[in-house]
Amino acid sequence: MDLITARPEGLYCPPGDFYIDPWRPVPRAVITHAHGDHARTGSGSYLAAAPGEGLLRSRLGEIHLRTLDYGEPITVNGVTISLHPAGHVLGSAQVRVEHRGEVWVASGDYKTEADGTCTPFEPVRCHTFITESTFGLPIYRWMPQAALMADINAWWADNAALQRASVVFCYSLGKAQRILHGLDTAIGPIMCHGAMEPLNAAYRAAGVALPEAPNATRAEPAELRQALVLAPPSARGTTWMRRFGEHADAFASGWMHVRGARRRRGVDRGFVMSDHADWPGLQEAIAATAAERVYVTHGSTAVMQRWLQEQGLDARTFQTAYGDEDDENGLPEAGGAPEREAEAPETTEDAPASDREASA
Ligand SMILES: [Zn+2]
Ligand SMILES: [Zn+2]
Repeated sequence: MDLITARPEGLYCPPGDFYIDPWRPVPRAVITHAHGDHARTGSGSYLAAAPGEGLLRSRLGEIHLRTLDYGEPITVNGVTISLHPAGHVLGSAQVRVEHRGEVWVASGDYKTEADGTCTPFEPVRCHTFITESTFGLPIYRWMPQAALMADINAWWADNAALQRASVVFCYSLGKAQRILHGLDTAIGPIMCHGAMEPLNAAYRAAGVALPEAPNATRAEPAELRQALVLAPPSARGTTWMRRFGEHADAFASGWMHVRGARRRRGVDRGFVMSDHADWPGLQEAIAATAAERVYVTHGSTAVMQRWLQEQGLDARTFQTAYGDEDDENGLPEAGGAPEREAEAPETTEDAPASDREASA
C-alpha cells in the first residue's frame, strides 16, 4: 500500500489519516517547516519539530500545535511518525512514517551543508523517499558557506571604507539568519528590516547565536554608512530605502548562479546562496536513503526523475503546490513593475513578512 499519496489538499497518509504540508485546510497536518508554501493556516491541528515552534507560531498565529523532538516517535492510527533534521531552516524536518514494516520519508525542503543556524541534515533510510528538486540541474553547485561569507564580509568592508551602506536583499526566514550568523561584527553595525525582527527573535529564543541586528529605521545616518543592512526583496524600490542614500546593494539567492540573473535584478552584486541542496547534495541525500522508489515534488522534477530512472530507481513525481520561497520569478525586476509593498505607506515596515514575500 502507498503510505503517502497526493490528494487535492496535499500529501496524504491513508492509514494514518493525516496530511504532510497540506496546501488546503485539513483536520490533521504534519508540517516540515515554517516557509509559507509548506505551513499554511486553517488546519485543525499541527505537528512539527520542536525547534520550529516559535517560527510557526509567529507566522501562523493561534494554532493547535504539538511538537516532537527530532527522532521522537509517536503513533497515529497505527502509523509511527518521527521527525528528522532537514538542515533547511530552523526546525525543518523530514517526516518519517512507518506502517507494518514499510518506511516512507517526506523530506520537505532540505539542504545537506551544515550552516550553524539549524540542526544539520541527517539521511534517513527508507523504502520510498519523497524529495524536492528546486535546484535539480547539474549546473547548480554551491560554494562552501565559509567562502560565501568571506565574500559578503569583504564586499561589506569595501563599502564601509567608502562610507556607503551595504544593503543585502534576502529571504526573511532562513537566509537572513544564516547571513547574520556569518557576518564579521568587527566591520561595522548590522541592521535589519522590521519584517525580519520577529524571525530573528524566534531563532534567538531557540538558542541560535545571532549578532545584534536592530531595526535600520532607528539608526543614525552616520551609522548607516558603515552598516550592513538585511532586507526582504519586497523592500526594494520602496520609500524605506531612502534613508540609505547612496548605497551598495546585493541579492543573496541560489538563482544568482544563473548568468544574467544579477543583471536583470539591477543590483551591484549577486551572492549565490541557497537553503536548498545543490545537484550533488540532492544526489548524495537520495543515495543515502537507500530508497528503491523516489517521488519528486517540486523544482526540476522532469530532469531529476529521468536522472533517477537512469540510476535504476523507480522514480515518479507528485504534483504539489510547493513553490520556491526563493524563486527568481518572485524577485522584483530592475525597472519592472513595482511590488505591491512599493505602494504601501512607510508605517507598514514593521509589519510581519507579508504573504507576498512568503511566495517570493
Ligand atoms: Zn522551504
Ligand atoms: Zn518549499
